[in-house]
Amino acid sequence: MMESIVDPTLLAEIRRYGHFDVDACFNCGSCAAVCALSKDSALFPRRSMRFAQLGLREPLKRNLDSWLCYYCGDCSTTCPRQTEPGESMMTLRRWLTAQYDWTGLSRRMYLSPGWELGALAAVGGLVAWLISSFHGPMVLDHVEMNTFAPVWTVHTFDMILVVVLSFFLLSNVARMWWFTMVQGGPGWRPLGAYAAELKTLILHSATQLRFGECGKDYGRWIKHWVLATGYVTMFTLIVGFLWWFQTDNIYPLHHPQRWLGYLATAALLYGTVEILVGRLRKGEQLHKFSDLSDWLFPILLLLTTVTGISLHIFRYAGWPQGTYAMYAIHLVVAVPMLAVEVPFGKWAHLTYRPLAIYFQAVKDNVLRRQLREDAAGAGAESGSRQPVQVG
Ligand code: SF4
Ligand code: SF4
Repeated sequence: MMESIVDPTLLAEIRRYGHFDVDACFNCGSCAAVCALSKDSALFPRRSMRFAQLGLREPLKRNLDSWLCYYCGDCSTTCPRQTEPGESMMTLRRWLTAQYDWTGLSRRMYLSPGWELGALAAVGGLVAWLISSFHGPMVLDHVEMNTFAPVWTVHTFDMILVVVLSFFLLSNVARMWWFTMVQGGPGWRPLGAYAAELKTLILHSATQLRFGECGKDYGRWIKHWVLATGYVTMFTLIVGFLWWFQTDNIYPLHHPQRWLGYLATAALLYGTVEILVGRLRKGEQLHKFSDLSDWLFPILLLLTTVTGISLHIFRYAGWPQGTYAMYAIHLVVAVPMLAVEVPFGKWAHLTYRPLAIYFQAVKDNVLRRQLREDAAGAGAESGSRQPVQVG
């Protein structure tokens, strides 16, 4: 059986993705016992640590455990051998992202800072060249954004970007489904279970509720929710409603184009600064270790937000040169962030996490059905053996 194949290179391979100390782990299970999210059908982090220790590559690839961990750090503070199991789950998430990605770009970027920074610089350079070569006329006596960068041209570029990103992200999602649900689960046939658990997918995609359940830290959940909501709102405005959002009109403060933009911007600013300060202070367990990808995610988002704010200020101040220059800088930061980080980097977590909860719920649903059927079958069998009472 595939499950029994031991791969002696697995542990060394995983360690290249970050901290992964299992040498001292003696499988006491305290980490799984203290974890608020671990349950019988998904016993983590101990099970994942064990698979890695034993070199069981396929079972590790097929299980969803590391996505179900929301990194409260309780297991790390409890571990009697200080093996940092919470950070090991983080390392496994990077490793799994690389396993799902068929292009191999995730693996290269996680294993080499040169690749990650090079990919961002290459896309940024391409965007700078496109803007410098194809921008429209620069009106210099007042701001005319839509002459410098015609909205339908930018919107077409947006749409191409979305299609390309969706292709890469969805094809990686398909591989995640194949590994975890076909090779490691019930396959595609229990359509009733997939349908019944759609509510779980919607709930967790929209709320990220597990951040609150993880370590019972509801403050952390709200911070993440604010950041994610700001990001999704801004993404929707820019990709779906650019013709409405990128305008030369000066609207009053109460206009939805302004306050929606301000709310999303405030959420992004607060969320990114909060993450960066936490990582610099290293006060919380989850900030003790920081990989390059952990820094790039908030830094790029913060730069995108700050250049967006500057662009807005320059436009409202009526400074044409500053507005056009800041527009170009804004795109040179924002496009690589989306093109590189969303399908191949840490931002893919936003997709994989709720999907993992959904897939695990489907697995649990199928298991419950099987248990019910088995119980009903056993009941019928024992019922058929009941002595018939006469009289
Ligand atoms: S608590 Fe530490 S030593 Fe015990 S199983 Fe978990 S990681 Fe291993
Ligand atoms: S970090 Fe928190 S959620 Fe993750 S395995 Fe440890 S205790 Fe569980």
